[in-house]
Amino acid sequence: INLIIKKPFKKTKSSSSPVNSKDWESISPFAVEIINKLQDHNYEAYLVGGCVRDLLANIKPKDFDIATNAEPKEIRKIFKASRIIGKRFQLVHIYKGKQIIEVATFRAGLNKNSTTIENDLIKDDAGKIIRDNIWGNIEDDCNRRDFTINAIYFCPISNTFKDFHDGAQHVKEKKIISIGDPLYRFEEDPVRSLRAIRFATKLNFKIDSKIKEAIYEKGDLLGNISNARLFDEFCKIFLNGHGYENYKKLQSFGIAKYLLNLEKNYSGNKVYGESLKNTDKRYRDGKSITPGFLLAAILWPKLIERCSFDNGINIRKFFRSMDGVLRNQQKLTAVPRKFSSYIKDIWVLQLKLHSRIGSQPYKTLRHPRFRAAYDFLLVRERAANDKNGLGKWWTDFQKNDDSLRGSIIAQMKEKNDEESSKKFGFYNELR
Ligand code: ATP
Ligand code: MG
Repeated sequence: INLIIKKPFKKTKSSSSPVNSKDWESISPFAVEIINKLQDHNYEAYLVGGCVRDLLANIKPKDFDIATNAEPKEIRKIFKASRIIGKRFQLVHIYKGKQIIEVATFRAGLNKNSTTIENDLIKDDAGKIIRDNIWGNIEDDCNRRDFTINAIYFCPISNTFKDFHDGAQHVKEKKIISIGDPLYRFEEDPVRSLRAIRFATKLNFKIDSKIKEAIYEKGDLLGNISNARLFDEFCKIFLNGHGYENYKKLQSFGIAKYLLNLEKNYSGNKVYGESLKNTDKRYRDGKSITPGFLLAAILWPKLIERCSFDNGINIRKFFRSMDGVLRNQQKLTAVPRKFSSYIKDIWVLQLKLHSRIGSQPYKTLRHPRFRAAYDFLLVRERAANDKNGLGKWWTDFQKNDDSLRGSIIAQMKEKNDEESSKKFGFYNELR
């Protein structure tokens, strides 16, 4: 630990090193501590992946991943507060307070000479890797990584890089380039196509044309990925502040359908774009974001489609359709239970927000999901270009105190009863 203090990142100013951004000082001390300890035990250990890439691109990394030649069991021995996780892809999590650092053992990945496929590297009939736990050295490890920019190893102790695939150069050129033939690499793991898109928008890099072809050619293999893994990717791709851009890219490659159960008759529905833009804005403003809100919004046209009736909706059908719509999304991406009930609450509240007489508005306002439901109402209004002022009514109702609330409701009653009763939905969203 003393070593860390003795060797801060002063050297980063040296001209020969590409390390010169202020962000390098933001390297997690805990990560450095882990690397130090592993090296003290005579193992190799580096920062690798997203954190090195982001630092080179002058972006503050969101987490720090470590790669080492120590095997999971050996890592466990060195760090008391640690746990081996994963089966398909074993990793060790090391804990300190609220911090978690992921440590991966160097992997051989696909060893071309190996004719004996052991229990630790297994592929299915489509060529997809279903288990990848053959350990290797750093050269092996860099070859099994997805893109050159993600395969740069950095030792914060000696301040040196290992960059076998010109990753740093590609960061400079703002290019996403596959390690090996992407047609083959995307067969091994189809999720790499989603990753290429995500990094392109996040970093504002260009996707190499070979990768683009591979996405078109192999994108359909995403249909074989477990819904649990796709839910993880769903969150990474739509809740990272670039959701709208990612959505447009996914659409243009024809693979949005593997993450989202979009309503075909309404493929141009503005609610998709508006809800993603809303989530991106919340991300930028540092507000909380949840996959629940986004799913409620994105599945909304599907729900409405199922219960449209005579320029309005059939309420009974509305309630009966909710579970089915969610189930169809579950087939694509898992939706943890807590989010399903959240989504249904937001949907039901859309009905309640329409009734603005008597005691109902007070009840609606007290509902724990009111705020999310109100936000979604505003999104729906924007998407449908609706000018009826329902959102505005709720904005006013929230702002005022109880005495004024009463009069707002009374005005409402006089103005038009018809508005607050039978008819539901905005003209443009029902079409
Ligand atoms: P971020 O954390 O910003 O989303 P990242 O590149 O760190 O990006 P992780 O999922 O944290 O992404 O993975 C860490 C590293 O592991 C990657 O940079 C890459 O080298 C490797 N990696 C992750 N997923 C894959 C994959 N599906 N195929 C090949 N290599 C992968
Ligand atoms: Mg990472």
